[in-house]
Amino acid sequence: MQVFDLLGNSYEQVVWCHDAPTGLRAIIAIHSTALGPALGGTRYYPYESEDEALVDVLRLAEGMTYKSALAGLDLGGGKAVIIGDPAHDKTEALLRAYGKFVDSLGGRYLTAEDVGTTQADMDLIWRETRCVTGVSPYLGGSGDPSEATANGVWWAMGAVAAHLDGPAADRTGSNRPGPEGSASPRGDLSGYHVVVSGVGKVGSGLARLLVGAGAKVSVCDTNAGAVERVVADLGVTALGVDDAHAVPCDVYAPCALGASLNDVTVPELRCRAVVGAANNQLAHPGVAADLSERGIVYAPDFVVNAGGVIDIADGLTGYHPDRAAAAVRRIGATTLAVLTHAAESGTTTVAAAEALARRRIDEVSAVQRLRTFPRRAGRR
Ligand code: NAD
Repeated sequence: MQVFDLLGNSYEQVVWCHDAPTGLRAIIAIHSTALGPALGGTRYYPYESEDEALVDVLRLAEGMTYKSALAGLDLGGGKAVIIGDPAHDKTEALLRAYGKFVDSLGGRYLTAEDVGTTQADMDLIWRETRCVTGVSPYLGGSGDPSEATANGVWWAMGAVAAHLDGPAADRTGSNRPGPEGSASPRGDLSGYHVVVSGVGKVGSGLARLLVGAGAKVSVCDTNAGAVERVVADLGVTALGVDDAHAVPCDVYAPCALGASLNDVTVPELRCRAVVGAANNQLAHPGVAADLSERGIVYAPDFVVNAGGVIDIADGLTGYHPDRAAAAVRRIGATTLAVLTHAAESGTTTVAAAEALARRRIDEVSAVQRLRTFPRRAGRR
């Protein structure tokens, strides 16, 4: 594979990390540091080939650039992959060797948890570098970001409801999680039928918020125990995994794995909007246009599920829950801005979101042309 061809006009740095004694084989990709250090999780996965790992880490790193830019963070986009089976190959020494490589980048890349890595893994990496976030609260971190992610999806869904049906009458305090106050109009989700596909950490939290707001909630999950728990806790309706996406509803919320919106499922959808937490919901880029042609409002996943990255980013400066919650709340306003921009420019919502992200990156990074000069030692 010609790596520089693959990098095109973007990507700043790709680092291969190798440590024979521990068996570490990792790739760190920095897509952009225009807004700040590149933040992105470390995925630990048994890739079939190095090419597959490289393509994945590049794709994920670029996505992080847009996610952080739209979330209003002073962070760029990066990602890392460790090649191997986390169930068999993961050791303390390997993770700490990886931490050494992260540290060697001098803060250009900040890592966090992702598929195949855990908070406990981040705690180990923290022993070798401070360029890691999402560590345990006893180390000053924010802990599990799933609740923040669920809250962010909730705010995005409220914005989509406002887009579909207009803002709710002023129901201050009646329809929201977390601290009070909203910068954007919210729709009224009471009476909405929402199908939540995947009721793990994020999906179950979202279902709870929706039930609290008076929505009708249906759920599905490949894990029967997870379904039983939310049905017992919240009194929601259980659906079959294979046909949940085709059930008539207001909002379909994919909160399981990626690629659930594809050439088979999209023609079968009977919802007005898709708003969910899962990463990489579109099986291929053309699905965004397919959804638009069917008149289904798609709130892009990297806008909607930014609550987690917002939460762990806050941990970089000493975690403050209220500050993080306020930033998560802004996902509503951002979602509305994306939907409005798409409608005005006649593009898909994904194209609109990427355009808004690029605009912020260009405008904010240009501020760096204004230079300040550090005082020399000994001079006042
Ligand atoms: P999780 O593993 O706790 O939950 C996922 C659930 O999906 C599980 O209960 C699993 O059984 C179920 N599932 C798997 N395949 C399914 C299928 N085909 N149909 C229905 N259910 C299925 O994960 P999570 O932390 O809740 O994350 C959910 C999604 O949100 C993932 O795509 C994740 O990448 C994304 N996300 C999570 C966070 C976060 O803070 N946790 C942040 C951003 C994005």
